[in-house]
Amino acid sequence: MSLAGRLEKYCLTTATSGREEPMMRLITEDLTAFTPDITVDSFGNVMARFEAASPTENTLMVFAHTDQLGMIVTKIESTGFLRVVRLGGVPERVLPGSVVKILAHDGDVVTGVMGTPPHHLTPEHMKYTVPTIDKAYIDVGASSAAEVHALGIQVGDHVAYEPRFERLAGNRVAGTSIDDRGGCAVLVGLAEHLAQKPAAVNVVLVATVQEEFNLRGAMLAAEKIKPVAAISLDLVAAGDTPEMGSPNGVAVGEGPVMGLYSFHGRGTLNGVIPHPGLVDLVEKSAQKGKLPLQKHATMGLLTDASYVQFVNGGTPAIDLCWPTRYTHTGVEMCSLDDLEGLQTLITQVVTSFPADWDGTRE
Ligand SMILES: [Zn+2]
Repeated sequence: MSLAGRLEKYCLTTATSGREEPMMRLITEDLTAFTPDITVDSFGNVMARFEAASPTENTLMVFAHTDQLGMIVTKIESTGFLRVVRLGGVPERVLPGSVVKILAHDGDVVTGVMGTPPHHLTPEHMKYTVPTIDKAYIDVGASSAAEVHALGIQVGDHVAYEPRFERLAGNRVAGTSIDDRGGCAVLVGLAEHLAQKPAAVNVVLVATVQEEFNLRGAMLAAEKIKPVAAISLDLVAAGDTPEMGSPNGVAVGEGPVMGLYSFHGRGTLNGVIPHPGLVDLVEKSAQKGKLPLQKHATMGLLTDASYVQFVNGGTPAIDLCWPTRYTHTGVEMCSLDDLEGLQTLITQVVTSFPADWDGTRE
């Protein structure tokens, strides 16, 4: 299957943080075509192992997250409306007037709409403000709490954007959870390559969980795998839209991106300054493959590489990305060319990764 085909299949599959089973099943099925050595841990990380061409102790971990952000039902009003909190960084701005799916605990999927005041009756002061998540509510068509319960919905159930995948002009696409189904699609493409041409190191590809929730699913996988280095495949926010003024210089259509600095000061105080040896390896791989390579340094951004780097006494880590607009909305947009470029880049990096790579800094 093509990269675009995989991306579409994954974007149309709803799998919120902690409820990744639909993506775990799909990706396990897809990886099984390329290796029999697949394990799943209790959190839901799917790990596919590819032995090195010649025996070595060293293992490289490459990972992408299967989960997507959403909301959690916190209260069912007597009037039948559902109240929610955010599961991950859902932007409140895009919620009113959108269609959502409630993943009822009994397995049913219930459609709802996010309410908003009727335009004609909206007072001036409310027209140009964004209601906070505690003001948000979902209407599933029920008139009472009893009717909501009869649909199988209860407090704690997950809510996700209605899944969609749109093909735009210029080989560009938009959809729900391009973050990080793009990374998952590239990961499976890498598996296809490794099945034909083993690397000099052992490679474990990990489809991780709960990135959007707390960024620590990948950390558990890294603790088990004990890699000499870890590479994250996830998007980077593009700064090329009319309102942004290109703060990080990253543009859609200009090729894959290497993260040189990320930092999230709001609570986590975490980020990644990648290991210089990995930066060097990625740069040389891009040169060797004559690939375009954008670089980003972005405040406010974080991937689970931030936590992977702290396990096993230190795991050198780096972010490889592709530019995406409108991140965390239901219409995240990117270029398939950039994703293909990332596919070629990560294949080149893994192919060039030395069997005896040592991350010790001098
Ligand atoms: Zn992501």
